[in-house]
Amino acid sequence: VWAKCLEIIHKDINEQSFKTWFEPIVPLNVANQTLSIQVPSQFFYEWLEENYIHVLRKAIDYTLGKNGMLEYSIIVDKGDKKNPPIAYNVPNQKPTVPVAAQRKPEPTLYESPFQLKDLDSLELDSYLNPHYTFDNFVEGDCNRLGRSAGLAVAQRPGVTSFNPLMIYGSVGLGKTHLIQAIGNYIKNTQTNKFVLYVTSEKFCNQFINAIKNNTLQAFSNFYMQVDVLIIDDVQFLAGKERTQESFFHIFNHLHQSGKQIIMSSDRAPRELAGMQDRLLSRFKWGLTADVQQPDFETRIAILQKKLQADGIYIEDKVIEYLAHSIDTNVREMEGVIVSLMAHASLNRREIDMELARTTLKNIVVDNEKEVTVDSILDAVTSHFDVNMADLKGKSRKKETVFPRQIAMYLMKEFTNLPLKSIGYHFGGRDHSTVIHAVQTISIMLETDKEVEKTMQKLYKYFNRVRVKN
Ligand code: ADP
Ligand code: MG
Repeated sequence: VWAKCLEIIHKDINEQSFKTWFEPIVPLNVANQTLSIQVPSQFFYEWLEENYIHVLRKAIDYTLGKNGMLEYSIIVDKGDKKNPPIAYNVPNQKPTVPVAAQRKPEPTLYESPFQLKDLDSLELDSYLNPHYTFDNFVEGDCNRLGRSAGLAVAQRPGVTSFNPLMIYGSVGLGKTHLIQAIGNYIKNTQTNKFVLYVTSEKFCNQFINAIKNNTLQAFSNFYMQVDVLIIDDVQFLAGKERTQESFFHIFNHLHQSGKQIIMSSDRAPRELAGMQDRLLSRFKWGLTADVQQPDFETRIAILQKKLQADGIYIEDKVIEYLAHSIDTNVREMEGVIVSLMAHASLNRREIDMELARTTLKNIVVDNEKEVTVDSILDAVTSHFDVNMADLKGKSRKKETVFPRQIAMYLMKEFTNLPLKSIGYHFGGRDHSTVIHAVQTISIMLETDKEVEKTMQKLYKYFNRVRVKN
């Protein structure tokens, strides 16, 4: 039946859409005039319903008759055997979001687990997000040490010399993902171990509440029973003397009892101003590893992994374009994918190069500042290491002429100044000189990859992404 459906659908839509949205579908069975199919994600399902419901209806009418129905099942979490696909009866109405796909709400800030739990009888919550795993953490040069140390710790918590394990690096580079992946791994392989994930901020609030409520003892007791303590963003403890003191005691107790401690921080321990030396020296007992910005290849791999998890197909050249344009951090990359999907479904179109370009443009425009003549002059002089007087002066040397032409080109691109005024900024050159410069650079951009790269870099000075036509 499904083969016949595909045949009908294929005739109605173009090749690219067919490949993207119909080839990944797995037919499950047909019973009682109902065809069951499996789709890779919630997003995928919604897309089908939004865009291809008529084509599908037609195919079902033809194969199963007017009363024929279609039932979707969505793969909730790929590779996770514990969560079998959930099936919905969906003739025409939408399913609710599968429970397992919903994010667990963040625990409320002032909740204090240590107050209410009898450790023996209650299953303790570890506050881990199960979506953060090693499987979906892409390895690259940027995180290799942290990842392998993390894996070692995950396999033998408290036993390796990586205790504490400290992962540091700037925002959006996967610290939380990595330390939670360690926690999830341990939780799944050593079910008797009490793994606890807590942000430093939450820890701090709990401590303050414990003081208020006179439950400090319960607070420490609670933490001292943890087998694997994962504490995120420890830089937050800076300057908080009493919280640090309490953490110090908990730390010592756990460490002495062979319990594993895993931390993250947004900067290297030596740069953690406002942190007590005795704590900092404890941090050095184990291993400190940094995570850095992913390189181009790793960015591609991360994008591919995310798209695959969402069951979305995007052409390689679009992926490369995205990886090329967003080089700040992984969170930003994810943000762009989400907007791309939103734009795609709002405008009912595929995610192609054009959509990628406009979406990126819009995102970048959001935090754009106006590009002024001065900022262009500054960027060009510092990028090419020429001085301002030479740039504006009469020199005909190649080292000066090229940057000067680039500056003119940028002014033409970014400001509304008439050519004559642009010339004025370069020692009163006339407009034909400016035209010549703009033409020269335009041609070089078309023909010389190095010039194109240089231009991309200059655009970054202004927080712009250069979009080639
Ligand atoms: P941080 O804690 O360093 O600010 P996060 O761990 O919150 O960063 O990462 C931001 C987002 O990027 C998360 O959704 C995370 O899953 C994703 N991410 C970061 N690094 C990777 C990676 N190497 N592979 C896959 N996803 C990643
Ligand atoms: Mg984080």
